[in-house]
Amino acid sequence: MSITAIKGMNDVLPGEVETWQFLEQSARDVFSLYGFSEIRTPIAEKTELFCRSIGETTDIVEKEMYTFNDKSNHSMTLRPEGTAPVMRAFIQNHLHNLDPVSKLYYMGPMFRYERPQKGRYRQFHQLGVEVLGVEDAKVDAQVLAMLHQYFARIEIDSVSLQINSLGCPECRPGYQQELIAYLESRLDQLCVECQRRYQTNPLRVLDCKAAGCQAATIDAPSVLDHLCSSCNDHFTQVKYYLNALQVPFKVNSRMVRGLDYYVRTTFELVTDQLGSQNAVAAGGRYDGLVESLGGPALPGIGFAIGLERLVLMKNEQRISPATPQLFIAALGKEATDRAFVLMSQLQIAGVRAEMDYLGKSLKAQMRRANKLNAAFTLILGEDELESGQAQLKNMSDSSQSIIALESLVATLSKKLGQVSTYS
Ligand code: ATP
Ligand code: MG
Repeated sequence: MSITAIKGMNDVLPGEVETWQFLEQSARDVFSLYGFSEIRTPIAEKTELFCRSIGETTDIVEKEMYTFNDKSNHSMTLRPEGTAPVMRAFIQNHLHNLDPVSKLYYMGPMFRYERPQKGRYRQFHQLGVEVLGVEDAKVDAQVLAMLHQYFARIEIDSVSLQINSLGCPECRPGYQQELIAYLESRLDQLCVECQRRYQTNPLRVLDCKAAGCQAATIDAPSVLDHLCSSCNDHFTQVKYYLNALQVPFKVNSRMVRGLDYYVRTTFELVTDQLGSQNAVAAGGRYDGLVESLGGPALPGIGFAIGLERLVLMKNEQRISPATPQLFIAALGKEATDRAFVLMSQLQIAGVRAEMDYLGKSLKAQMRRANKLNAAFTLILGEDELESGQAQLKNMSDSSQSIIALESLVATLSKKLGQVSTYS
């Protein structure tokens, strides 16, 4: 029996990878407009990094991590998210000494042991950004404006931005106490999991997908009514700047994030196109995180976009692979050798050129040129070699022109050389 991939971990094949490349390149283009630089961290980290940052009672740490001991019995974990590794790298490499404000982005695979389904996998990919060193609400609005611009750039408009504030270590404990008291009075309506976690992590109950929990929390106290004055001012400013930048949003006071490190502004970009996998991007502020991991006391904010969910949403508008600009059909050994050298010269000159490698008949070669969707074909046989000229056929309108083999590379590279990869 042949070996298959691990459940929940997918191949990205030609035909689909072009969409990935487009989404990744668009991110690089947009993020660089805002002054972000890429950072790449290892795929595995010491397990304690995630336990300490994401939080012991979160879904990720409780049940979703790929954790194992290496041969020296050190516990390591395949990264379930990108923020903690970026913070670790930021602190370890003293990036704060280079610049008081760091704007970083990353892209790559993440790992969570979840039940695989559409839009939810065990290896998935995130595109994320982090800004370190600014508390001002302008940066919250700017990060969201950048997210908005990215979605405009990739032409996905069926998403809406929801924002909330989760308060800070000053005001959140008071809110949590009130929420716990409220939940206690409705314990019998909550799912088993929420009955277990309502005291350690009461906010998660608001975000539980079970119908009973949703119904039981309809009248739950709102976090927004419990913000201290500085959190309240900050949230007011975020909304003010979002309006100033014309970024549409809705306030959703029930939106809590599944990671412990969030404070103040949190947000999700949601769609109704992907069933219960409705979040395509999510993030927020994590002002205490860098310090809690042993770094300087710096505020931070960021988001992560789930790439697979974007690819699913882009499915109808697939980006086609680059096709050959010229297919050279050759007959006989001498012509085939000449075609081979010509093809190589054209490729060096920047023309996407292709030929047959399998010794097929002329008819079969022309069928292949058609199948590959080549823009032009050139037929090379004994006669053409003798006369030094060949017919260049435009496959879209079947028009033909005569071209001298000597000047073929110069003429074609001038004519076809500069075509974008995403044509
Ligand atoms: P969900 O509620 O769907 O489980 P989450 O809150 O766990 O999402 P985050 O940790 O905020 O997700 O990750 C940011 C983004 O990464 C999500 O909005 C989603 O697009 C994507 N994502 C998260 N988990 C997965 C997964 N297992 N497979 C594919 N994409 C994922
Ligand atoms: Mg999740």
